[in-house]
Amino acid sequence: MLKVEKLLFERNITMKINRRNFVKNTSLLTLGGLVLPHSSYSIMKKGSLPKKGLKLSFEPYRLQLKHVFTLASSSRSTTPVMLTKIEFDGFIGYGEASMPPYLGETQQSAGKFLSALVLGQFSDPFCLDEILEYVDNSAPGNSAAKASVDIALHDLIGKIIGLPWHKLWGFSSENAPDTSFTIGIDTNEVIIQKVKEASEFNILKVKLGRDNDKEMIETIRSVTDVPLCVDVNQGWKDKKKALDMVFYLKEKGIVFVEQPMPKEMLDEIAWLTQNAPLPIIADEALQRLTDVQSTIGAYSGINIKLMKCTGMREAHKMITLARANQMKVMIGCMTETSCAVSAAAQLSPKADWADLDGNLLISNDPYSGMKVINGKITLNNLPGIGIY
Ligand SMILES: [Mg+2]
Repeated sequence: MLKVEKLLFERNITMKINRRNFVKNTSLLTLGGLVLPHSSYSIMKKGSLPKKGLKLSFEPYRLQLKHVFTLASSSRSTTPVMLTKIEFDGFIGYGEASMPPYLGETQQSAGKFLSALVLGQFSDPFCLDEILEYVDNSAPGNSAAKASVDIALHDLIGKIIGLPWHKLWGFSSENAPDTSFTIGIDTNEVIIQKVKEASEFNILKVKLGRDNDKEMIETIRSVTDVPLCVDVNQGWKDKKKALDMVFYLKEKGIVFVEQPMPKEMLDEIAWLTQNAPLPIIADEALQRLTDVQSTIGAYSGINIKLMKCTGMREAHKMITLARANQMKVMIGCMTETSCAVSAAAQLSPKADWADLDGNLLISNDPYSGMKVINGKITLNNLPGIGIY
């Protein structure tokens, strides 16, 4: 893409975000680097200003869920997020931290973490290792807040180069998998309604882990034969009952079972994986690259989520490690805007399965990006993470 086209693209993005009142008061939220209005910077001749450091800003946002979302342990109708952006040399990268309450991060904790970062000390956004190591070492935890910086930085770099990340990594967008669409725990009537609404999808994800699991499956099977995957969210406690359930689920056309038992029951899960006729996938059992080792031999595969692993760079490493150990890979998400979902979608061509429906579950998505077309993740050719 020519420089002029890049500037026009960035200006369009800026105008679009301005319409959405993104970061209403930049002066209150801006940290590090020179505060310079994008429009005035972009019309200056290249080289007329010395390069300045990265400029990070952020804004809290609350996602409205279309349906009350029920897991084995909780229900909710909103999800707090933090929308971030990193500006550099006339380019803007966008990021996001999604913080469902059960993971422990909040808008307050993310704001505190991001406020303490001094990205203005970095004048080369391509030094990903150096910058993200600094971000990671600046405080423990805060994985979603860290991911919001990682995603914005990847978006920024992709825009500077003029290519989307799936191409920079050498992935073919044709290999992007179908995404599952999640059917939460609910009344039979609501479940039937949700399944009918999800007719575009080629695989559905069903939340199990209560005492009516078979009823849930039978209810769904009364209206569709589409392949299902199930997420038990650690809800089963007895390995033999769990194995019986997995055999039952195999008969019902289920593709894999996610986190069937509490993550602490590693020996029981390993036994289940050895004897089960379906792949057993780890989710709650791991967060980051260093956790993958403990799942090898105990699970058939891992579910990677940007919000848990601190972002795209570490997720890419986790995929490589899992593949080297003959493990299946699933790429998942929280309830998120199209920003974080599109970032995860860049990795999806290397995943066996994707569960990237988080943006489809909300009614106030401020971005557009990756689309689900006929159930398949469809990546665009926009640079960075592909949002607009
Ligand atoms: Mg899960």
